[in-house]
Amino acid sequence: MTFSQLTPPQRILMGPGPSEIHPSVLAAMAAPTVGHLDPYFLKLMDEVQSMLRDVFQTTNPMTMAISGTGSAGMETCVVNLIEPGDRMVVGINGVFGGRMAEVAERLGAQVTRMERPFGEVFTPEEVRAVVQQVQPKVVGIVQAETSTGAWQPLDDIAAIVHEAGALLVVDCVTSLAGVPVEIDRLGIDAAYSGSQKCLSCPPGLSPVTFGPRALEAMDKRTRRVSSWYLDIGLLRNYWGSNRAYHHTAPINMNYALHQALRLVLQEGLPARFARHMQHHRALKAGLNAMGIRYSGAADSCLPMLNSILIPEGADDAAVRSQLLNEFGIEIGGGLGPMKGKVWRIGLMGETAKKSNVLLFLAALEQCLNRQGIRPDPGAGVAAANAAWLAS
Ligand SMILES: *Cc1c(COP(=O)(O)O)cnc(C)c1O
Repeated sequence: MTFSQLTPPQRILMGPGPSEIHPSVLAAMAAPTVGHLDPYFLKLMDEVQSMLRDVFQTTNPMTMAISGTGSAGMETCVVNLIEPGDRMVVGINGVFGGRMAEVAERLGAQVTRMERPFGEVFTPEEVRAVVQQVQPKVVGIVQAETSTGAWQPLDDIAAIVHEAGALLVVDCVTSLAGVPVEIDRLGIDAAYSGSQKCLSCPPGLSPVTFGPRALEAMDKRTRRVSSWYLDIGLLRNYWGSNRAYHHTAPINMNYALHQALRLVLQEGLPARFARHMQHHRALKAGLNAMGIRYSGAADSCLPMLNSILIPEGADDAAVRSQLLNEFGIEIGGGLGPMKGKVWRIGLMGETAKKSNVLLFLAALEQCLNRQGIRPDPGAGVAAANAAWLAS
């Protein structure tokens, strides 16, 4: 039997991740592989750590990339901070909060599920009430809920969590490099992200950062961390100054992350956040002009993840497959209770650009027409153009 050489299609990735990737990032992956203890690689690790600190806006020495996707970063944060029987409060207003709760439950934590309907966000008062009642060791919350497009404000939350003597873990998988993630200013104790969202790198690495309170809690553990692979105590010996072998780092993935981080910092965080916001506003203006509404509250919409209500009469799967087959555009369907109700349009990292917004609006109009839905011809593109002109 023979197998043909791979020829993956060139897609326009406008879903909930992975996002589009700059050619220089893909080229970095094709560079020669060196050993995981090669001086060249050790220097590269230092640089990746240093750039991650800049992107996380922290000085935390323990900032690094876990070998695994965003969920591995989630598991790393929880497994290192939780011992069986510890109390943890998790904010659940979407799929990823639910996942964090499940991870904590599997590790034997006593989990309190602080819930909000999908698409809504938590107020500091709500968090205070639950935290004061439960007196947890750890509080987990999702800054950018990719399943709903909700943007959780974090100001005041860390202070509330710390007043109760607890630690704050934040899911920044989708927010990092798309909206401000200010680890030090906000007092976040541990956070994790993923390479394939606003960092615009292929999936496979999960940046994490741990502050002094989190490291102190790890030092005070009475039991060993139940995961060997994700034990920060062991990983510290590899990513820290000892550089002792722990596992074989995915070398070429780290090349890619290094280049992706360079591009993020070359652009500059304020410019990058502004670009995400500008193209989000244009997309939103275009969609609204086509009669399409967002699923979440207007004041908490993420710029990089646009969750829109599927127009009445449109076939979810048919529209998404027409977008993919005729235009090469991938968007996301709804997750969990949102399945069949929303489409999720990503404007993450490299994906956030005018040409994608224009093509998507024009392509969506054709797809809706095929469904018998007739928005004002060209109204979406015209409204997006007007939004850019005004910005
Ligand atoms: C994508 C995502 C994850 C999971 O990351 P994977 O890379 O798919 O493992 C976790 N949390 C949020 C908010 C995400 O968007």
